[in-house]
Amino acid sequence: MNPKLQKIFTVDPFKEMNQSIPGEVCNLVKGKWVQGKTFRKDIPDPLNGEDFLNVPDTLEYNEFIDNLDICPKSGLHNPLKNVERYLMLGEVCTKTAELLREDEVAEYFVKLIQRVMPKSDSQCLGEVTVTRIFFENFSGDNVRFLARSFSNPGDHLGQESSGYRWPFGSVCIIAPFNFPLEIPALQLMGALFMGNRPLVKVDSKVSVVFEQLLRLLIHCGLPAEDVDFINCKGEVMGELVKKSENKIRLLQFTGSKEVANQLAIDSKGKIRIEDAGFDWKILGPDYDSEWSEYVAWQSDQDAYNASGQKCSAQSMLFVHENWEKDVIPRLVDLASRRELKDLDIGPVLTWSNSQLKDHLNSLLKIEGSKLLFGGEELSGHSIPVVYGSIQPTAVQVPIQELLTDNFELITKEVFGPFQVVVPYSDKEVDKVKEVLERITQNLTAAIVSNDTFFQQNILANTVNGTTYTGMKARTTGAPQNHWFGPSGDPRSAGIGTPEAIINTWSAHREIIKDTGPQ
Ligand code: NAD
Repeated sequence: MNPKLQKIFTVDPFKEMNQSIPGEVCNLVKGKWVQGKTFRKDIPDPLNGEDFLNVPDTLEYNEFIDNLDICPKSGLHNPLKNVERYLMLGEVCTKTAELLREDEVAEYFVKLIQRVMPKSDSQCLGEVTVTRIFFENFSGDNVRFLARSFSNPGDHLGQESSGYRWPFGSVCIIAPFNFPLEIPALQLMGALFMGNRPLVKVDSKVSVVFEQLLRLLIHCGLPAEDVDFINCKGEVMGELVKKSENKIRLLQFTGSKEVANQLAIDSKGKIRIEDAGFDWKILGPDYDSEWSEYVAWQSDQDAYNASGQKCSAQSMLFVHENWEKDVIPRLVDLASRRELKDLDIGPVLTWSNSQLKDHLNSLLKIEGSKLLFGGEELSGHSIPVVYGSIQPTAVQVPIQELLTDNFELITKEVFGPFQVVVPYSDKEVDKVKEVLERITQNLTAAIVSNDTFFQQNILANTVNGTTYTGMKARTTGAPQNHWFGPSGDPRSAGIGTPEAIINTWSAHREIIKDTGPQ
């Protein structure tokens, strides 16, 4: 690393891909970086299985619970208190964006992300770019504008009612492994903007990325005491949440639905959730040969980029019979071009090969199902066995099977390069809608059609929080320029936009001034 980067960062990812990163991840407690006492032994280098970073295996968390008392329930700031902090945070965003605009800083994060969550250069750069534009969006006065209030005239002279955006106080953020920079960065800043003080926990496989971002933010003026950062196992975090009783006033969780539901109980319902995606795409009846190359390309990107480890990844593709003959061979061809050397396909960090194979085999037992492509382990690699390494895979399943007891099995989210393809005809559109009604996860969706009546029919009868429609529709997107999050659940969180931040990280407070005269 060059001297400029050394002033900010403590971990060096500019090594050959098959060498370990020298470095150690620290916790941040009351503004101080604290080294771990013991370290995780179960997180090997995802590309070669060798020893990797030292990530604390924190077991004593009482200090983190005690620190939840630092912040009152009225927050570090609110529209009537410490308002200069809105401006300070705008300034932190300006400086952070400026640094992320520098090629060497952007490249630092691209490499660091790629070392811990191996995905292609363009996928890693995409994550850094989204994060940088987010900081640009909230530079200057835009943080204070998030806390805009409104007023209504009262019933008589001297009376006026005003609605304010109020913080929760001490909050907690739990983030997954797949977007190590973007998810915790955007949620952290959203929480801070609205006046909260967050305790952050990121999946330990990738938490080094967030730790280095925190160092950058502190370098850019964020008070180090504004946030605590813990590295620990998931179950230890679960205990912390439970033991902290009512001290965590809001828990924002991004991850699997099983953990989300457990935390909803442990936090006594004080939770906002970005959970699992079983994201669907429908190729509508208006097949157009001039669009098929694009539509197939987008489908391949949606299903297999980042080795399918995006919550927005295309899990189920409904293909109208008009598209079938053209699009399926294109999908086979595009999948075959993905190569490990470019990380267009790579390690699957939460599903092993045996789990992937078992799931594939169960699907292939369903009557009328068939393997369209993939299904084999990748060859010529040194990905450790704790991680999956499977070719881009697609299984075709008849639509009527989704209306049987096989529904749960077919719609299980596989967090890897895996999708289910379901052909349908004009007569079966109602069956497609019936399947969509039964899917419990409502994150992203795509209606690939320029037929407005078909679009209306599907849009009017579904609820996915982030739905793309039109011939260019996709399931994976860019959260800094539009709302991203599930819908149809009162616990849904959003990420990225002003509305997402305001909805997730603040509460409505009404103050009615009634001063007279008598
Ligand atoms: P996971 O639920 O196992 O882990 C997510 C985070 O929770 C990690 O930091 C983990 O350490 C922590 N954790 C695990 N058990 C815990 C417990 N008992 N108490 C507290 N924290 C605990 O999820 P995963 O499998 O690693 O991530 C993939 C899942 O996340 C997929 O289902 C994916 O769809 C979802 N996801 C959703 C979004 C979204 O925006 N909706 C984004 C990314 C990932």
